[in-house]
Amino acid sequence: MSKKKKPLAPPPAPLPGVVDAHAHTWDAQLQPDHAEVIERAWNTGLAAIVQVGCDLRTTLASHEIASTDHRMYATAGLHPHSASDLAEEREPIEAAVASGGYVAIGETGLDFYRNLSPPQEQHAALHWQLDLARRHDLPVVIHSRNADEECFEVLRQWASEVGRYLGADREIGMMHCFAGDLELAERYMDLGFSISIPGPVTFPGNDRGQLVARSIPLERMLVETDCPYLTPLPWRGRRNEPAYVAETARFVASLRGIDATEVARHTAENAARLFGFSLTSPGETA
Ligand SMILES: [Zn+2]
Repeated sequence: MSKKKKPLAPPPAPLPGVVDAHAHTWDAQLQPDHAEVIERAWNTGLAAIVQVGCDLRTTLASHEIASTDHRMYATAGLHPHSASDLAEEREPIEAAVASGGYVAIGETGLDFYRNLSPPQEQHAALHWQLDLARRHDLPVVIHSRNADEECFEVLRQWASEVGRYLGADREIGMMHCFAGDLELAERYMDLGFSISIPGPVTFPGNDRGQLVARSIPLERMLVETDCPYLTPLPWRGRRNEPAYVAETARFVASLRGIDATEVARHTAENAARLFGFSLTSPGETA
């Protein structure tokens, strides 16, 4: 392959029924050809896309995008990077959630890698959103970076207070872009969280992520893009988009020695159960 002219990577091979459990197609990088991005997802066989809000603007944008297709869903949240905006955004985000049409709260959590908001403000935003989720009977979408034990401790305490508030058979949240080790994944699953596997699982040398993807029960796994970030192979270095979740699911299947359709089916069912939506695929009704 010539280095100077980077050929376009081929589009992903279809994988019917797969769900992107965490996408940000409102991002500016995905705007110039947004309709094509979404169309490529359906052409790749995606059954659903969860559009995740990171502040008031993108919470509303997620809802607006989701309203264009019954296979898209929206979450309402304030990202730890934007936690300093809590005072201004709290009320309008609460109002958006109260008006309905959101399937989860978040993404929220702790990020001590970039520390774009001070830790105490991240904690305040996280506690507010955990409470908001409980009040509206919605699951939470958790972002944890360089905060493994601190984030776990907050969620352990919260989970011990709220229990399985969405029902005994339903998870209470997802660990988005899970990057911890298998032991931490097991502790989160014990609390009632699903573990979401992102594109970097495909990177050579990601032994920890691959061990998690190979080992956790399929019944607790989700797959996601976090687009436009975290692009899986073979598109690494380019913009990510929902269609590429098919490749992440396919890679997980290869790690586990099972058919990709099995990974697609389980992770889609898990997403539908967590977020409380029903799956429909062509020629079928859920
Ligand atoms: Zn995200």
